[in-house]
Amino acid sequence: MLNSDESILLIEDDRVDIMTVQRALSKNSFDNPLFIARTGLEALHMLRGEKGHEKIDPPPGLILLDLNLPKMSGIEFLRELRADPQLSEQRIIVLTSSNEPKDRDAAFQYEVDDYFVKPHSFGEFSRAMATILSL
Ligand SMILES: [Mg+2]
Repeated sequence: MLNSDESILLIEDDRVDIMTVQRALSKNSFDNPLFIARTGLEALHMLRGEKGHEKIDPPPGLILLDLNLPKMSGIEFLRELRADPQLSEQRIIVLTSSNEPKDRDAAFQYEVDDYFVKPHSFGEFSRAMATILSL
């Protein structure tokens, strides 16, 4: 369960999905600070405060991670994150269009907290987001 002052880092390259997450958060009356990274690499820079990115401090209470991302896949991001002693305990929930067992297995191998396949309708997406934030 996320406290209202804890931030969320959304790692998502798709504009429409970013807007859908924002709408679903506000529909559920969540006004937690939301940071957005368009690639896994950008997310790492934001978490570490490197390469000209301001550090997210305190660290986000939750990372929402898409798997199909440019440059560095979500799974590669997870490998990097878990190998970093400063970030290895970070709470992460996967939110992806991939229902592939190999993606699911790889994500859980890196100890994600949960794995959600993006629903198609906004109503379902909004309910999924309410579930995610109550976990
Ligand atoms: Mg994507």
